Amino acid sequence: MDCAFLMDYIESAKNTDICKNCKNIVIGKGNMSAPIMFVGEAPGRNEDEQGLPFVGAAGKNLDKLLEKVGLNINDVYIANILKCRPPENRPPLPEEIRAHTPWLLKQIEEIRPKVICSLGNYATKFFLSDCDVDLMGKQPGITSVHGKVKIISLNGTDIKLIPLFHPAAIIYNRNLLGEWEKDMEIVKKEIEQKKLF
Ligand code: URA
Repeated sequence: MDCAFLMDYIESAKNTDICKNCKNIVIGKGNMSAPIMFVGEAPGRNEDEQGLPFVGAAGKNLDKLLEKVGLNINDVYIANILKCRPPENRPPLPEEIRAHTPWLLKQIEEIRPKVICSLGNYATKFFLSDCDVDLMGKQPGITSVHGKVKIISLNGTDIKLIPLFHPAAIIYNRNLLGEWEKDMEIVKKEIEQKKLF
């Protein structure tokens, strides 16, 4: 991936403590021209080791879940709210989200997806807050908004946001699998209606 356009953003994120302590900065993976982007929370241990998002248990589950609806890594782009692993996989802090998300927004501007699937609470609340970190605490949780399509405006462009349960949550709570499958039907419909591929 050509990262030249990301340099300014890399500099501001690098000043956060989590970047000083991580092995790799995890930018993203997949097709830079993909019409669908998946956005997760933050790299975990495996992602930090390999420098790629969603390569651990949650990633393997995400691959399987995508396969079920006929998608693979060549059809999508995958990134995270945070580009570095928080120590002991603790939840992202507001100041970290503030420092790392301009970088995510720049990626979105480059990739220009038609649909963003936010994975779990952090990514969903970030987008539902119009990217204002101070408003994230006021947003409803993923349990009440998953599968509900919302048009959001990013960088002056309308994008369909489809919140989904985080693939890690589905590993621990298999009851969520049926919900994910129903939600992915909505994603599939978007793909078919809009002829995204
Ligand atoms: N969970 C995430 O949200 N992102 C990753 O890259 C891995 C696990």
